[in-house]
Amino acid sequence: MDRIEAEKRVQELTALLNEYGHAYYVRDNPLVPDSVYDRKLQELLAIEAEYPDLVFPDSPTQRVGGEILPGFTKVVHEFPMLSLSNAFNEEDIRDFDRRVQAGAGKDITYICELKIDGLAVSLKYDNGAFSQGATRGDGTVGEDITSNLKTIHAIPLKLAEPVTIEVRGEAYMPKRSFMRLNELRDENGEEPFANPRNAAAGSLRQLDPKIAASRNLSVFIYGVGGDGSAYGQDSHSDSLDYLASLGFETNSSSKRCKSIEEVIDYIESWQQRRQDLDYEIDGIVIKVDGYEDQEQLGFTAKSPRWATAYKFPAEEVHSRLLDIELSV
Ligand code: NAD
Repeated sequence: MDRIEAEKRVQELTALLNEYGHAYYVRDNPLVPDSVYDRKLQELLAIEAEYPDLVFPDSPTQRVGGEILPGFTKVVHEFPMLSLSNAFNEEDIRDFDRRVQAGAGKDITYICELKIDGLAVSLKYDNGAFSQGATRGDGTVGEDITSNLKTIHAIPLKLAEPVTIEVRGEAYMPKRSFMRLNELRDENGEEPFANPRNAAAGSLRQLDPKIAASRNLSVFIYGVGGDGSAYGQDSHSDSLDYLASLGFETNSSSKRCKSIEEVIDYIESWQQRRQDLDYEIDGIVIKVDGYEDQEQLGFTAKSPRWATAYKFPAEEVHSRLLDIELSV
């Protein structure tokens, strides 16, 4: 592809991905399956890697998430809520491992976690009391959804210790609640939600907390916002134990892995068993466990260098989106 063709394709892909992103992040109603979005984003990344002068500020490769819905109070995140780089196959995972080992200059212990397919939330506690909850938004500014989050039983209103802390997690809708909700919507002549992720996001981004309260949502907390070591832990795995001791619901399937082979085994085993879970996962998050190592690796503008998200291959998708998958 020469430069003129590349510039034209960059413009096409940017317009298309921004349209898809708006439907997904702002309206919680995707136009295409994730696999279609991901393939086009990878194509854009590949062109941008070849022609770095074609990386424009409005490129979806440079931005996190979407805009704030009108009616919500804005919350400026004390620590940015970033995205994750993606891996789609074993080669990508091994490349990630090589980059990490080179950056850290030593062997690394990883921690693998299920990638819960929901909506990222940030929860703030002042002296142990839940004070504010927000969406990720564009990573810098999110929406204040405190009243909606208070309706989720898995979110403690008071912690076991009077700490002031910000935590990050994924709010989600269990598969059974999702099916029940869509049955009800069908009975009422309403458009069904495309998937549990969009149903969870659509439920939490409502101004009336009664809607969230009726939707049987839950949450897994997967980390501390900002400097995890500020609470006396040396590693992410220790922080997860600490968060559980404070009363947060953490996911018990996380595993420390001493080599990339162990990481790959973990991924393969969950890829086969993911249907058994009563919530949806769309991949596995691989994180460097040690905080010192994380600090040394740092961040890009959009994501940490010490973590990546392996995305499972697309499954048979829900009917409405499948039609689009076949035709795009
Ligand atoms: P991402 O979903 O790939 O990864 C980041 C998110 O993973 C975090 O914000 C967090 O919410 C979540 N997460 C879940 N479990 C986690 C754990 N254990 N530890 C850490 N994080 C965890 O990135 P993204 O920027 O949110 O969005 C990209 C995703 O959205 C892609 O999957 C893409 O396919 C999809 N998308 C789809 C469309 C569409 O039209 N279908 C449009 C835009 C984006």
